[in-house]
Amino acid sequence: MDNMGGIGNVPYTMILDLTNNTTDLGGIIFILSHEINHQIYDSTSSAELFKQTVLYRIINEGFATFISYLYWGHKYSIAKNLGYSEKEYKWCLDNQKLIWGIVRPLLSSTKNDDINKLVARNIKLFENAPGAIGYYVGFKICVEYVKRNGKSSWKNIYKEPVDMVLFKVAYLKISGRNINYFTVLLFKSNKYDLDSFTKPC
Ligand SMILES: [Zn+2]
Repeated sequence: MDNMGGIGNVPYTMILDLTNNTTDLGGIIFILSHEINHQIYDSTSSAELFKQTVLYRIINEGFATFISYLYWGHKYSIAKNLGYSEKEYKWCLDNQKLIWGIVRPLLSSTKNDDINKLVARNIKLFENAPGAIGYYVGFKICVEYVKRNGKSSWKNIYKEPVDMVLFKVAYLKISGRNINYFTVLLFKSNKYDLDSFTKPC
């Protein structure tokens, strides 16, 4: 028993030294699928034009969250996968229009300040909101993408340019009809159909 304890403690300590936001081995194992997905996505994504944008960053985080949720077979809640408390996640579900209203004009931005606003854990845009609210939006975009394109379509996200991912999720309502809209206009338009962002996952 003594030997086992000694052996177990060595790598445990070393791994902890290399991470900032986990406190135990279980936490490190839990985030591996999320982190590995970043590695894969960064190397497979064809979104060269968009890689510096807010949109790319939040889809990258949301997709990693989505994959982690799938990988663990839904064993852990969406909130835990997002790094939120259950209460913070509930706040997101209750305030989707508000969130989308803040995020939408930033999507094409390449400014670090705008990216941080949405992915930094210590930045809360609203009282009771979680930090890193862009994780939620990116996750939601992936969920909606899969809903519209089929159960296995998450595999396409690896290669689908992020503007196309959004293109396939967001619709513009013209004369009461949902119409797919071109990316450039999508970025500039204020007339998104908010329906898909106002229903719980
Ligand atoms: Zn991440």
